[in-house]
Amino acid sequence: MKPRYATLDRRKLLIGGSAMAAAFSLARAPARAADIDVIVVGAGAAGIAAAQAVKATGRSVAVLEARGRAGGRAFTDSSLGPSYDAGAMYIHWAERNPWSDIARELGVETAPEPWGGGFRVFAEGRPMADADRRRRRDAFRQIDSRLETVDIGTRDLSIAELLGDLGPEMTPVATSGLLLSIGEESSRISARDYQRLWSGDDLVVPSGYGNLVARSGAGLDIRLNEPVTAIDWSGSGVTVTSRSGTLRAKACILTVPVGVLKAEAIRFTPALPAATRDALAGLNMGALTKIALKVEGDRFGITPGASFLESGKPEGLINFDMYPDGKDLVIGYCGGDFARQISQAGPDEARAHVTDLLATMIGSEFRKTVKASSFPAWWIDPFAHGSYSICAPGHDAARDALAQPVGERLFIAGEATAGGGAITVGGATLAGRAAAAALARLKA
Ligand SMILES: Cc1cc2nc3c(=O)[nH]c(=O)nc-3n(C[C@H](O)[C@H](O)[C@H](O)COP(=O)(O)OP(=O)(O)OC[C@H]3O[C@@H](n4cnc5c(N)ncnc54)[C@H](O)[C@@H]3O)c2cc1C
Repeated sequence: MKPRYATLDRRKLLIGGSAMAAAFSLARAPARAADIDVIVVGAGAAGIAAAQAVKATGRSVAVLEARGRAGGRAFTDSSLGPSYDAGAMYIHWAERNPWSDIARELGVETAPEPWGGGFRVFAEGRPMADADRRRRRDAFRQIDSRLETVDIGTRDLSIAELLGDLGPEMTPVATSGLLLSIGEESSRISARDYQRLWSGDDLVVPSGYGNLVARSGAGLDIRLNEPVTAIDWSGSGVTVTSRSGTLRAKACILTVPVGVLKAEAIRFTPALPAATRDALAGLNMGALTKIALKVEGDRFGITPGASFLESGKPEGLINFDMYPDGKDLVIGYCGGDFARQISQAGPDEARAHVTDLLATMIGSEFRKTVKASSFPAWWIDPFAHGSYSICAPGHDAARDALAQPVGERLFIAGEATAGGGAITVGGATLAGRAAAAALARLKA
């Protein structure tokens, strides 16, 4: 298996479901001055999709976004010159992912995954022995076969428990694959939730998935640099406070990441109901992150697109995409506690660490080719607090519970509420549309 983001093989599940069918009626809202019909908080994939869908029904809608850009965790970073997707890169399960159609409609090219260039495995910067590589491959296969055979019908397990009796050698190897796919330690991942995640073929967007998501917000009233700090839903509508003041609306679709909600960056009056708070308690944020090096000059005979995996120990696991698409870039990505540690250490230490490692793998001359770096450390990003939602073992009902409308006027949407589509841009979009559809349906 070539480690990369989300090589998932999961079951089918309809998102939203009955949760979104709960009663909501704009028509029933008592007459109260509202500045706008619907406020959407967050201009990521979910917020943009929700706002476009609300707008299509003829209602007025404004999107309040904390950052100075739209797209959220779908972000094409051009700060180094050649661009790369610092967040989402793959259109997963492309056959049914709404982004295949959106790209087509906007005339944006998509392409099959740019695999090729070879795959090399290292332990502490030295090539890994063939026997160890074989052992790794076998161990990765065990996750899916265990999911097929171990009974998780009666009790939800963590992935670590599911694989626990593979033995002291195989278990850490098998679980380390999840650090690069799910971005979290296997002891913190619900096996049931993992199993329900959708799978399928992946596409990429050569001009940038982040650029595509941001572009899909064209025509919307997106107000940038407006971090929302308070939402009052005590009356018949909602009053939302952001940097430039308060805005009243009949309803609010809230698409901030669960990390932001758990950090209590937004004060709710009254407090969110116990069921919503319980749902949040069962969801955490993973820590998948990337670090990009701008490299110029000698490529040391390495084929563009090659993958170099450092796999000596799980706490230092990192994969490098070497010169992807022939660009002057090397992109490292890692997850779990190692990613947390490197994020907290800061960009200089992160750059020094990966440069040292690559110099051991390739030769010390590599250092001279490193000209600049960019480190989108999602774990310490105040508007994300991590990469994407991870369902804790025993909390596999949390995603659906979080999607339950609050007080018939507050809808929480986003990748975390997307059922089998969770953790992805496609899921976020479907969840945003589902929230907007509930508004429209119940207005009728
Ligand atoms: C490194 C990495 C790799 C990934 N790879 C993939 C991949 O290959 N394929 C894939 O499908 N998915 C991938 N994902 C996941 C994907 O990016 C997310 O699931 C998706 O973008 C989430 O969309 P969303 O709209 O739910 O949330 P977001 O995109 O996070 O949007 C929420 C918005 O709310 C804003 N916000 C936060 N707080 C406030 C506030 N207080 N007030 C106002 N606005 C606020 C944020 O700035 C953000 O713009 C990856 C993520 C990461 C981090």
